[in-house]
Amino acid sequence: MNKLVPITLLVVILLGVLYVYIYSNNRFRFKLSDTGISQLEPSPQVIFVSSDFHLVAPDGMKYTQPSITQGRTDVVSVTPWLAPVVWEETFNEKLLDSIYMKKNISVVATVFAVGKYIMFLKDFLETAEQFFFVGFRVSIYVFTDRPNDVPHVKMAEGRQLNVLPVPSSNRWQEISARRMELIQKLIEEKLINKADYIFCLDVDSKFHGRWGTESLGGLVAVIHPGYYRDDRSRFPYERRPISRAFVAPGDGDFYYCGGAFGGLIQEVHQLAKTCRKNFEDDAKEGIEAAWQEESHLNRYMWTNKPSKILSPEYLWQDFKARNPEIKIIRFSGVVKNYAAIRPN
Ligand code: UDP
Ligand code: MN
Repeated sequence: MNKLVPITLLVVILLGVLYVYIYSNNRFRFKLSDTGISQLEPSPQVIFVSSDFHLVAPDGMKYTQPSITQGRTDVVSVTPWLAPVVWEETFNEKLLDSIYMKKNISVVATVFAVGKYIMFLKDFLETAEQFFFVGFRVSIYVFTDRPNDVPHVKMAEGRQLNVLPVPSSNRWQEISARRMELIQKLIEEKLINKADYIFCLDVDSKFHGRWGTESLGGLVAVIHPGYYRDDRSRFPYERRPISRAFVAPGDGDFYYCGGAFGGLIQEVHQLAKTCRKNFEDDAKEGIEAAWQEESHLNRYMWTNKPSKILSPEYLWQDFKARNPEIKIIRFSGVVKNYAAIRPN
Protein backbone atom coordinates (compact mmCIF):
# COMPACT_ATOMS: atom_id res chain seq x y z
CA MET A 1 0.00 0.00 0.00
CA ASN A 2 2.80 2.38 1.04
CA LYS A 3 4.67 1.68 -2.18
CA LEU A 4 1.59 2.14 -4.40
CA VAL A 5 1.08 5.81 -3.57
CA PRO A 6 4.40 7.15 -4.94
CA ILE A 7 4.13 4.87 -7.99
CA THR A 8 0.63 6.12 -8.78
CA LEU A 9 1.82 9.68 -8.29
CA LEU A 10 4.75 9.10 -10.65
CA VAL A 11 2.47 7.58 -13.29
CA VAL A 12 0.07 10.53 -13.02
CA ILE A 13 2.94 13.02 -13.37
CA LEU A 14 4.38 11.13 -16.33
CA LEU A 15 0.98 11.02 -18.04
CA GLY A 16 0.62 14.76 -17.43
CA VAL A 17 4.01 15.49 -18.98
CA LEU A 18 3.15 13.25 -21.94
CA TYR A 19 -0.17 15.03 -22.45
CA VAL A 20 1.42 18.50 -22.38
CA TYR A 21 4.11 17.29 -24.80
CA ILE A 22 1.62 15.84 -27.30
CA TYR A 23 -0.71 18.82 -26.99
CA SER A 24 1.95 21.44 -27.60
CA ASN A 25 3.46 19.40 -30.37
CA ASN A 26 0.12 19.22 -32.13
CA ARG A 27 -0.62 22.87 -31.69
CA PHE A 28 2.58 23.98 -33.28
CA ARG A 29 3.05 21.30 -35.87
CA PHE A 30 3.14 22.50 -39.43
CA LYS A 31 1.90 20.29 -42.17
CA LEU A 32 3.25 21.08 -45.57
CA SER A 33 0.50 20.17 -47.98
CA ASP A 34 1.28 19.36 -51.59
CA THR A 35 0.10 22.80 -52.65
CA GLY A 36 2.87 24.43 -50.66
CA ILE A 37 0.49 25.72 -48.04
CA SER A 38 1.41 24.77 -44.54
CA GLN A 39 -1.50 24.43 -42.25
CA LEU A 40 -1.49 24.79 -38.52
CA GLU A 41 -3.14 21.79 -36.91
CA PRO A 42 -5.50 20.90 -35.40
CA SER A 43 -7.48 24.15 -35.71
CA PRO A 44 -8.47 24.70 -39.35
CA GLN A 45 -9.38 28.30 -38.46
CA VAL A 46 -5.79 29.43 -38.04
CA ILE A 47 -3.56 28.83 -40.98
CA PHE A 48 0.04 29.68 -41.57
CA VAL A 49 0.94 29.95 -45.17
CA SER A 50 4.35 29.37 -46.57
CA SER A 51 3.60 30.44 -50.12
CA ASP A 52 3.11 33.98 -49.00
CA PHE A 53 5.93 34.76 -46.65
CA HIS A 54 8.91 32.80 -47.84
CA LEU A 55 10.00 34.32 -51.10
CA VAL A 56 12.88 32.45 -52.70
CA ALA A 57 14.49 33.94 -55.79
CA PRO A 58 16.14 31.67 -58.31
CA ASP A 59 19.95 31.80 -58.50
CA GLY A 60 21.64 34.05 -60.99
CA MET A 61 18.74 36.29 -61.88
CA LYS A 62 19.70 39.71 -63.17
CA TYR A 63 17.41 42.68 -62.84
CA THR A 64 17.42 46.44 -62.34
CA GLN A 65 18.69 47.58 -58.97
CA PRO A 66 15.82 48.51 -56.63
CA SER A 67 15.78 51.95 -55.05
CA ILE A 68 14.11 53.40 -51.98
CA THR A 69 14.59 56.99 -53.06
CA GLN A 70 13.56 56.80 -56.68
CA GLY A 71 10.31 55.58 -58.13
CA ARG A 72 6.79 56.77 -58.58
CA THR A 73 5.96 59.96 -56.77
CA ASP A 74 2.49 60.56 -58.21
CA VAL A 75 0.80 57.78 -56.25
CA VAL A 76 0.92 56.24 -52.79
CA SER A 77 2.08 52.64 -52.86
CA VAL A 78 1.60 51.66 -49.24
CA THR A 79 -1.34 51.90 -46.83
CA PRO A 80 -1.16 53.13 -43.20
CA TRP A 81 -1.13 49.47 -42.11
CA LEU A 82 1.80 48.93 -44.48
CA ALA A 83 0.10 46.85 -47.13
CA PRO A 84 1.49 47.44 -50.63
CA VAL A 85 -0.71 49.18 -53.17
CA VAL A 86 0.14 47.75 -56.56
CA TRP A 87 0.73 50.28 -59.32
CA GLU A 88 2.60 49.96 -62.60
CA GLU A 89 6.35 50.54 -62.06
CA THR A 90 6.26 49.50 -58.40
CA PHE A 91 7.20 45.87 -59.05
CA ASN A 92 9.41 43.70 -61.20
CA GLU A 93 7.24 41.18 -62.96
CA LYS A 94 10.05 38.91 -64.10
CA LEU A 95 11.41 38.67 -60.58
CA LEU A 96 7.98 38.00 -59.08
CA ASP A 97 7.10 35.42 -61.71
CA SER A 98 10.31 33.51 -61.11
CA ILE A 99 9.71 33.49 -57.35
CA TYR A 100 6.17 32.16 -57.68
CA MET A 101 7.05 29.78 -60.50
CA LYS A 102 9.37 27.97 -58.10
CA LYS A 103 6.46 27.51 -55.73
CA ASN A 104 4.36 25.97 -58.50
CA ILE A 105 1.31 27.90 -57.28
CA SER A 106 -2.18 27.37 -58.61
CA VAL A 107 -4.66 30.18 -59.09
CA VAL A 108 -8.43 29.96 -59.33
CA ALA A 109 -10.72 32.57 -60.86
CA THR A 110 -14.48 32.53 -60.36
CA VAL A 111 -16.89 34.28 -62.65
CA PHE A 112 -20.69 34.36 -62.76
CA ALA A 113 -22.53 34.43 -66.05
CA VAL A 114 -26.21 34.14 -65.24
CA GLY A 115 -28.97 34.99 -67.70
CA LYS A 116 -27.95 37.38 -70.45
CA TYR A 117 -24.57 38.01 -68.83
CA ILE A 118 -23.40 34.87 -70.64
CA MET A 119 -22.76 37.20 -73.59
CA PHE A 120 -19.74 38.66 -71.78
CA LEU A 121 -18.09 35.34 -71.13
CA LYS A 122 -16.30 34.84 -74.44
CA ASP A 123 -14.32 38.07 -74.25
CA PHE A 124 -13.65 37.55 -70.57
CA LEU A 125 -12.20 34.08 -71.14
CA GLU A 126 -10.27 34.96 -74.27
CA THR A 127 -8.62 37.98 -72.72
CA ALA A 128 -7.90 36.01 -69.51
CA GLU A 129 -5.92 33.60 -71.69
CA GLN A 130 -3.88 36.53 -72.94
CA PHE A 131 -3.26 38.38 -69.68
CA PHE A 132 -4.30 36.56 -66.49
CA PHE A 133 -1.45 34.61 -64.86
CA VAL A 134 0.02 33.57 -68.19
CA GLY A 135 2.34 30.58 -67.73
CA PHE A 136 0.85 29.55 -64.38
CA ARG A 137 -1.61 26.87 -63.35
CA VAL A 138 -5.04 28.48 -63.61
CA SER A 139 -8.53 27.05 -63.10
CA ILE A 140 -11.47 29.16 -64.09
CA TYR A 141 -14.85 28.30 -62.57
CA VAL A 142 -17.85 29.63 -64.49
CA PHE A 143 -21.16 29.65 -62.62
CA THR A 144 -24.02 29.78 -65.08
CA ASP A 145 -27.64 28.81 -65.66
CA ARG A 146 -26.83 28.30 -69.35
CA PRO A 147 -24.06 25.69 -69.41
CA ASN A 148 -24.77 24.87 -73.05
CA ASP A 149 -23.99 28.44 -74.08
CA VAL A 150 -20.53 28.53 -72.54
CA PRO A 151 -18.21 29.40 -75.43
CA HIS A 152 -15.45 27.04 -76.43
CA VAL A 153 -12.30 28.96 -75.70
CA LYS A 154 -9.00 27.25 -76.27
CA MET A 155 -7.08 27.16 -73.03
CA ALA A 156 -3.29 26.88 -72.83
CA GLU A 157 -1.64 23.90 -71.18
CA GLY A 158 -2.03 23.92 -67.41
CA ARG A 159 -5.18 25.99 -67.60
CA GLN A 160 -8.69 24.66 -67.34
CA LEU A 161 -12.27 25.77 -67.50
CA ASN A 162 -14.91 24.32 -65.18
CA VAL A 163 -18.60 24.98 -65.62
CA LEU A 164 -20.89 24.84 -62.58
CA PRO A 165 -24.64 25.05 -63.08
CA VAL A 166 -26.64 27.50 -60.93
CA PRO A 167 -30.36 28.35 -60.96
CA SER A 168 -31.64 31.36 -62.88
CA SER A 169 -32.98 34.34 -61.01
CA ASN A 170 -35.49 37.11 -61.60
CA ARG A 171 -33.55 39.69 -59.62
CA TRP A 172 -30.02 40.80 -60.47
CA GLN A 173 -29.50 41.76 -56.83
CA GLU A 174 -29.97 38.14 -55.88
CA ILE A 175 -27.54 36.86 -58.50
CA SER A 176 -24.88 39.24 -57.42
CA ALA A 177 -25.60 38.56 -53.72
CA ARG A 178 -25.57 34.77 -53.95
CA ARG A 179 -22.04 34.87 -55.26
CA MET A 180 -20.59 34.85 -51.73
CA GLU A 181 -22.53 31.72 -50.83
CA LEU A 182 -21.43 29.90 -53.98
CA ILE A 183 -17.82 30.98 -53.58
CA GLN A 184 -17.87 29.75 -49.97
CA LYS A 185 -19.25 26.37 -51.06
CA LEU A 186 -16.85 26.04 -53.98
CA ILE A 187 -13.93 26.60 -51.64
CA GLU A 188 -15.23 24.11 -49.08
CA GLU A 189 -16.08 21.43 -51.62
CA LYS A 190 -13.33 21.74 -54.18
CA LEU A 191 -10.52 24.12 -53.33
CA ILE A 192 -9.35 23.84 -49.72
CA ASN A 193 -5.81 22.42 -49.80
CA LYS A 194 -6.02 22.01 -53.58
CA ALA A 195 -5.37 25.52 -54.83
CA ASP A 196 -3.39 28.40 -53.38
CA TYR A 197 -5.03 31.64 -54.51
CA ILE A 198 -8.42 32.71 -55.78
CA PHE A 199 -9.76 35.80 -57.52
CA CYS A 200 -13.48 36.49 -57.83
CA LEU A 201 -14.23 38.61 -60.85
CA ASP A 202 -17.16 40.26 -62.62
CA VAL A 203 -17.88 38.77 -66.04
CA ASP A 204 -18.82 42.05 -67.70
CA SER A 205 -15.17 42.93 -68.03
CA LYS A 206 -12.11 42.29 -70.14
CA PHE A 207 -8.40 42.05 -69.52
CA HIS A 208 -6.27 44.57 -71.40
CA GLY A 209 -2.95 44.17 -69.64
CA ARG A 210 -1.01 41.88 -67.38
CA TRP A 211 -2.68 40.66 -64.18
CA GLY A 212 -0.22 38.30 -62.54
CA THR A 213 1.89 37.39 -59.53
CA GLU A 214 2.18 41.00 -58.36
CA SER A 215 -1.47 40.71 -57.30
CA LEU A 216 -0.92 37.79 -54.93
CA GLY A 217 -1.44 38.27 -51.22
CA GLY A 218 -3.33 37.07 -48.17
CA LEU A 219 -6.43 39.16 -48.56
CA VAL A 220 -6.47 41.21 -51.76
CA ALA A 221 -8.81 44.12 -52.45
CA VAL A 222 -9.14 46.29 -55.54
CA ILE A 223 -9.75 50.00 -55.19
CA HIS A 224 -12.91 51.09 -56.98
CA PRO A 225 -12.11 53.40 -59.91
CA GLY A 226 -15.05 55.66 -59.19
CA TYR A 227 -14.16 57.01 -55.76
CA TYR A 228 -10.43 56.89 -55.13
CA ARG A 229 -9.95 60.63 -55.27
CA ASP A 230 -12.97 61.34 -53.06
CA ASP A 231 -13.36 62.04 -49.40
CA ARG A 232 -14.54 58.97 -47.47
CA SER A 233 -17.80 60.72 -46.61
CA ARG A 234 -18.74 60.30 -50.27
CA PHE A 235 -18.06 56.57 -50.46
CA PRO A 236 -21.28 54.66 -51.17
CA TYR A 237 -21.00 52.44 -48.08
CA GLU A 238 -24.15 51.17 -46.44
CA ARG A 239 -25.08 54.04 -44.12
CA ARG A 240 -28.02 52.61 -42.20
CA PRO A 241 -26.95 51.32 -38.77
CA ILE A 242 -29.61 48.59 -38.95
CA SER A 243 -27.61 46.79 -41.64
CA ARG A 244 -24.67 44.55 -40.82
CA ALA A 245 -22.82 46.27 -43.66
CA PHE A 246 -23.04 49.64 -41.89
CA VAL A 247 -19.95 51.83 -42.03
CA ALA A 248 -20.17 54.91 -39.83
CA PRO A 249 -19.37 58.39 -41.11
CA GLY A 250 -15.69 59.01 -40.49
CA ASP A 251 -14.88 55.29 -40.88
CA GLY A 252 -13.58 53.44 -43.93
CA ASP A 253 -10.18 53.38 -45.61
CA PHE A 254 -10.95 53.06 -49.29
CA TYR A 255 -13.96 52.09 -51.35
CA TYR A 256 -13.26 48.62 -52.69
CA CYS A 257 -14.81 46.87 -55.70
CA GLY A 258 -17.23 44.02 -55.40
CA GLY A 259 -16.26 43.13 -58.97
CA ALA A 260 -12.76 41.93 -58.12
CA PHE A 261 -11.24 40.62 -54.92
CA GLY A 262 -9.20 37.64 -53.89
CA GLY A 263 -6.23 36.27 -52.02
CA LEU A 264 -5.35 33.02 -50.34
CA ILE A 265 -8.10 30.42 -50.47
CA GLN A 266 -8.46 30.42 -46.67
CA GLU A 267 -8.71 34.19 -46.44
CA VAL A 268 -11.33 34.44 -49.17
CA HIS A 269 -13.25 31.63 -47.54
CA GLN A 270 -13.41 33.63 -44.32
CA LEU A 271 -14.54 36.71 -46.24
CA ALA A 272 -17.20 34.89 -48.27
CA LYS A 273 -18.55 33.09 -45.23
CA THR A 274 -18.79 36.27 -43.18
CA CYS A 275 -20.34 38.37 -45.96
CA ARG A 276 -22.83 35.64 -46.77
CA LYS A 277 -23.90 35.30 -43.14
CA ASN A 278 -24.27 39.05 -42.68
CA PHE A 279 -26.15 39.33 -45.95
CA GLU A 280 -28.55 36.55 -44.97
CA ASP A 281 -29.06 37.85 -41.45
CA ASP A 282 -29.88 41.26 -42.93
CA ALA A 283 -32.28 39.64 -45.40
CA LYS A 284 -34.14 37.89 -42.56
CA GLU A 285 -34.87 41.35 -41.20
CA GLY A 286 -35.89 42.64 -44.61
CA ILE A 287 -32.71 44.65 -45.16
CA GLU A 288 -30.68 44.72 -48.36
CA ALA A 289 -27.46 46.71 -48.21
CA ALA A 290 -27.05 49.60 -50.65
CA TRP A 291 -24.68 47.71 -52.98
CA GLN A 292 -25.43 44.16 -51.85
CA GLU A 293 -22.29 42.13 -51.36
CA GLU A 294 -20.03 45.04 -52.27
CA SER A 295 -21.32 46.80 -49.15
CA HIS A 296 -20.65 43.74 -47.01
CA LEU A 297 -17.21 43.33 -48.55
CA ASN A 298 -16.37 46.93 -47.71
CA ARG A 299 -17.56 46.46 -44.16
CA TYR A 300 -15.49 43.30 -43.83
CA MET A 301 -12.34 44.97 -45.13
CA TRP A 302 -12.72 47.88 -42.74
CA THR A 303 -12.11 45.46 -39.89
CA ASN A 304 -10.05 42.84 -41.72
CA LYS A 305 -7.46 44.97 -43.48
CA PRO A 306 -6.41 43.64 -46.87
CA SER A 307 -2.75 42.63 -46.94
CA LYS A 308 -2.42 43.76 -50.54
CA ILE A 309 -4.33 46.40 -52.42
CA LEU A 310 -4.60 46.61 -56.17
CA SER A 311 -4.81 50.07 -57.69
CA PRO A 312 -7.69 50.96 -60.03
CA GLU A 313 -5.49 49.66 -62.88
CA TYR A 314 -7.02 46.31 -61.85
CA LEU A 315 -10.62 47.34 -62.38
CA TRP A 316 -11.22 50.36 -64.50
CA GLN A 317 -14.44 51.19 -66.32
CA ASP A 318 -14.49 51.57 -70.08
CA PHE A 319 -16.75 54.64 -69.93
CA LYS A 320 -14.29 56.52 -67.70
CA ALA A 321 -11.53 58.63 -69.20
CA ARG A 322 -8.15 57.39 -68.03
CA ASN A 323 -6.59 59.51 -65.26
CA PRO A 324 -2.87 60.36 -65.57
CA GLU A 325 -1.81 58.10 -62.67
CA ILE A 326 -3.31 55.15 -64.52
CA LYS A 327 -0.38 54.14 -66.72
CA ILE A 328 -1.95 50.89 -67.75
CA ILE A 329 -5.46 49.48 -67.63
CA ARG A 330 -5.26 45.79 -66.83
CA PHE A 331 -8.91 44.89 -66.36
CA SER A 332 -11.93 47.01 -67.14
CA GLY A 333 -15.70 46.81 -67.04
CA VAL A 334 -17.34 47.07 -70.46
CA VAL A 335 -20.05 49.60 -71.16
CA LYS A 336 -23.39 47.85 -70.91
CA ASN A 337 -27.03 48.60 -71.28
CA TYR A 338 -28.47 47.58 -67.92
CA ALA A 339 -32.08 47.58 -69.16
CA ALA A 340 -31.23 45.12 -71.93
CA ILE A 341 -29.22 42.59 -69.91
CA ARG A 342 -30.56 42.49 -66.38
CA PRO A 343 -33.64 40.43 -65.52
CA ASN A 344 -35.24 43.30 -63.56
N1 UDP B 1 -24.50 38.84 -62.85
C1 UDP B 1 -24.99 37.87 -63.71
N2 UDP B 1 -26.26 38.00 -64.21
C2 UDP B 1 -27.06 39.06 -63.91
C3 UDP B 1 -26.55 40.06 -63.05
C4 UDP B 1 -25.26 39.92 -62.55
O1 UDP B 1 -24.32 36.90 -64.02
O2 UDP B 1 -28.20 39.12 -64.41
C5 UDP B 1 -23.14 38.68 -62.29
C6 UDP B 1 -22.07 38.97 -63.33
O3 UDP B 1 -20.93 38.21 -63.08
C7 UDP B 1 -21.80 40.44 -63.08
C8 UDP B 1 -21.88 40.49 -61.56
O4 UDP B 1 -22.93 39.59 -61.23
O5 UDP B 1 -20.54 40.82 -63.59
C9 UDP B 1 -22.17 41.88 -60.98
O6 UDP B 1 -23.24 42.52 -61.63
P1 UDP B 1 -22.98 43.78 -62.57
O7 UDP B 1 -21.75 43.57 -63.37
O8 UDP B 1 -24.24 44.04 -63.35
O9 UDP B 1 -22.76 44.93 -61.52
P2 UDP B 1 -21.96 46.31 -61.80
O10 UDP B 1 -20.54 45.94 -62.13
O11 UDP B 1 -22.64 46.97 -62.95
O12 UDP B 1 -22.07 47.04 -60.50
MN1 MN C 1 -19.77 44.45 -63.33
